[in-house]
Amino acid sequence: MMKLELHWKIIIGLVLGLAFGVFAASQGLGDFTSAWVAPFGKIFLNLLKLIAVPLVLSSLITGVASLSDTKKLSRIGGKTITIYIATTAVAVTIGLVSVNILQPGDTVPEDMKLKLQETYEMAASGRMEAANEAKNRSILQPLVDMVPDNVFSSASNNRNMLQVVFVAIIVGIALIQIPKNKGKPVLDFFEGINELVIKLVDNIMFFAPIGVFALIADTITSVAGNNLNNILELLSALGYYMLAVIIGLILQMIITYTTVLKIFSKMDLKTFYKGIAPAQLLAFSTSSSGATLPVTMERCEDELEVSEEVSAFVLPLGATINMDGTALYQAVAAVFIAQTLGMDLALGAQLTIVFTAVLASIGTAAVPGAGIIMLIIILEAVGVPSAGIALILGVDRILDMMRTVTNVTGDASVAVAVHASEKN
Ligand code: ASP
Repeated sequence: MMKLELHWKIIIGLVLGLAFGVFAASQGLGDFTSAWVAPFGKIFLNLLKLIAVPLVLSSLITGVASLSDTKKLSRIGGKTITIYIATTAVAVTIGLVSVNILQPGDTVPEDMKLKLQETYEMAASGRMEAANEAKNRSILQPLVDMVPDNVFSSASNNRNMLQVVFVAIIVGIALIQIPKNKGKPVLDFFEGINELVIKLVDNIMFFAPIGVFALIADTITSVAGNNLNNILELLSALGYYMLAVIIGLILQMIITYTTVLKIFSKMDLKTFYKGIAPAQLLAFSTSSSGATLPVTMERCEDELEVSEEVSAFVLPLGATINMDGTALYQAVAAVFIAQTLGMDLALGAQLTIVFTAVLASIGTAAVPGAGIIMLIIILEAVGVPSAGIALILGVDRILDMMRTVTNVTGDASVAVAVHASEKN
């Protein structure tokens, strides 16, 4: 057991958690699970989030400060953002092709449509309020949001990861510019913190199998309630829709990321997937690329040999703005809802989806369930009633787990690609 590789241990935790969750849901043990099992998942999740800010701060400051000039930084930045946007646009296109071929909207029985809309009406209106807030912001607001007026307040909330990235970059740059003897103690300090946090990631991951067990068991019982039939009914009504999303996500990994890796690096797929597997499993269990970030960074640096300066820049940025899985899902969901409501989306509307989904995925927070809130903005852009999200809310968590895996895989493949292209 001790010799087992980390990803196998996590898989065992995941499978056992799955089995326990199904058992608990079928035996009406939902309350028991949330009282006695879920807390261990929460503790694990908190531990991961706890180290995200110090990790990003320390590794980015030391990464930037180790660059000989700032030109390299802007080159890495330009490359990263270009590949991020391109892969997201491809993801949306794949999603649109998948949903237009499978036409899952035609398969939902009429009575089920009504039932879904009734059941999830309340939950849907809560999401709509959140979307409204996001929509009323000016176009340049994200830029303003990136620049904090107080470094301690930005470091005190994981949602402000881009602010932390920003501060780390300007501090790193200034560290290059001041005399070496003055900068050295500061740099040494952050290098020490960096070592320390990476060790902490290792130690926390020791508990990953237990954490994942608890997270999965809790997710199943909360999605299914105390009645497993609920979820089975949902799965059969929305099966085709889920299939359209899942096929799209798989194609994105097989086509897009393989291409990115092939074009820029010589890394073979086996090495890549073996290295990144624990982060993928964690993304699946937590539905949060933000919470997975420390592990994504650690795996990229230790197993995929991505340099710190690249990983510390590319991955936190990716966790916040690069969400291929989310964008793909948003495209499929938007068309599915239109289909279900008997609306046909013309080519123009589908192109609007490509554009808005790329933007919406950039604005989606790296936390569970954020994707569906931004979906509302896409629906409104193409004139589909946003209350339609009630149709898909019941299975959203399951798809969230899967799209988060794609999100994290996308970030990691771009990190490998940028590192390789910098080396050449
Ligand atoms: N849960 C996703 C993530 O953290 C975002 C989403 O809801 O699509 O990557």
